Amino acid sequence: MQSRARRPLLAGNWKMNPLAAADAVELARGVSRAAREHASQVEVALFPPFPWLLPVRGALEDTGVEVGAQDCFWERAGAFTGEVSPAMLAGWCGWVIVGHSERRTVFGETDEQVGLKAAAAMGAGLRVIVCVGEREDQFVAGQTEEVVSRQLDIALQRLSASGADRLVVAYEPVWAIGTGRNAEPALADRTMRVVRRRLERAFGTSADAVRVLYGGSVNAANVTAYVELEACDGSLVGGASMKADEFSRMIAAVAAASGSRAT
Ligand code: PEP
Repeated sequence: MQSRARRPLLAGNWKMNPLAAADAVELARGVSRAAREHASQVEVALFPPFPWLLPVRGALEDTGVEVGAQDCFWERAGAFTGEVSPAMLAGWCGWVIVGHSERRTVFGETDEQVGLKAAAAMGAGLRVIVCVGEREDQFVAGQTEEVVSRQLDIALQRLSASGADRLVVAYEPVWAIGTGRNAEPALADRTMRVVRRRLERAFGTSADAVRVLYGGSVNAANVTAYVELEACDGSLVGGASMKADEFSRMIAAVAAASGSRAT
């Protein structure tokens, strides 16, 4: 049986939810018990909206659950109204997501900008989840490998192998995000292997430290099918991470899968 060198990561992206700080704190507390119980097998990180980073971090003190932001800017400081610097985030949280498909499609972020953000976040000492994934038309046209490789290579050009242990790549097919149409595990596996090969090409053996996640309509019922895959080191979860019971069941499922994969 395959041994798992990388500890699986379950990351919860809350997007622009919930509306009240008290609900954010309650949700964080709701998942912290399961996260604590399975801490040796699964790493858990929650990504609330910016205003809830501090209250959520406070609620998670001494639980082992980590906190991250959903985006950052690539400049350190200056006249950039509305933006948040990775250097500011570094005082608030340990993680940041860059290149989420909603940033790319709703806000028009380019591959280049995602690369700049990833490099700036790395430079600030953050742990970074870089999201890649093809749109539905690209999937239908058979362009998945080409699109994902391009997105990733452009980001990797700006990153160095010395930060590999702080880098995570989330493969998230855009057509699977928030749609209930999760990618077939075999399909996800194929693309995550492409991701791993691109990482090895860029970083050599240091690529072993990078975790590769699948994201897109993952829930308690289907998470095991992904994390059992050799190419998969966990999941980036949207909708299901906003339900404490469901996310807690996912933590337990990833822990069980991780145990069954250990030698
Ligand atoms: C996401 O937002 O990254 C995501 C994967 O969402 P969902 O789990 O809702 O598809």
